[in-house]
Amino acid sequence: MKSQTLIAPAKINLALDVVGRREDGYHLLWTVMQSIALADRVMVEVGPDQEGIKITCGAAGIPSDERNTAWRAARLFMDAAKIQDGVHITLEKNIPVAAGLAGGSSDAAAVLAALDQLYPQHVSRELLFELAARIGADVSFCLLGGTALGEGVGEILTPLPAWEQLPILLCKPNFDIHTSWVFKRFRLSDAGSRPDHRAVLEAVQRRDLGALAEASGNVLESVSLKAYPELRRIKNLLTEADAALAVMSGSGPTIFGVFRDEHASAAAQVYLTKKLPEDTIILRSKTIADGPREDTPYVPFS
Ligand code: ATP
Repeated sequence: MKSQTLIAPAKINLALDVVGRREDGYHLLWTVMQSIALADRVMVEVGPDQEGIKITCGAAGIPSDERNTAWRAARLFMDAAKIQDGVHITLEKNIPVAAGLAGGSSDAAAVLAALDQLYPQHVSRELLFELAARIGADVSFCLLGGTALGEGVGEILTPLPAWEQLPILLCKPNFDIHTSWVFKRFRLSDAGSRPDHRAVLEAVQRRDLGALAEASGNVLESVSLKAYPELRRIKNLLTEADAALAVMSGSGPTIFGVFRDEHASAAAQVYLTKKLPEDTIILRSKTIADGPREDTPYVPFS
């Protein structure tokens, strides 16, 4: 038996716009995606002594059969690599579920990356990204990690200079929003102000948080913030707490604030914790430069 354990980072959308619709009804996006330190832990064990694909996950509400994104990733990889071994995946969920943070997508990306390491040279990098896109729109970005522009349904990626170490405060109220629900209700004509694409990209290139704040936005807020006024309140509280930028991630309901330094994000966490219901998830995190990576213990001064 062989095993590999990888960290599967969550993602946020620093900006998100809808630019059209595909013939099959899928919305075409323009979005800047960013990996953050908040992550699930994904252990993949393989070997001829294992049977089929098995998922172990302690978290509530996560399917452990073929509906699980990690299961689908394993099935696609093993078929593409033409390997008969069994796969046992253990998921340690830290990323809130159905939050707009791509938790399921990142688990799938980590399974693809782990299997690629366990069976090197069985699947080309190109095919690995093709399998990722087949699982879901965000899986390709999660496999790449860092900072990237996503187009198409999010799977056409252009890497951008990684914007690391930005302090983030994530705020998720105690309800889920499903992506399909938001897109069904989305009308571009009601979207209000849209992100300025060129200015967003320039801000990311220059790492200019003030310029990003002026140019950014998420058009899906026109659906989610209208349906859930609580989300507008969270956005306002983040701004009151000195966030340089406060935007919804993906289709929500997580709203995140980006801060100029760690002190500001720590103070904001205290402020929002006082103001919001107890069951709100309020987590500090930071932007990072990679996707799935090895879970190595921290060694100081190495
Ligand atoms: P995205 O931003 O990619 O749309 P999300 O953060 O909004 O993702 P997920 O946390 O990926 O949403 O979960 C969406 C649904 O997918 C959940 O209702 C859950 O039951 C199902 N699901 C399937 N596999 C997983 C997984 N490995 N982790 C979490 N949820 C999963």
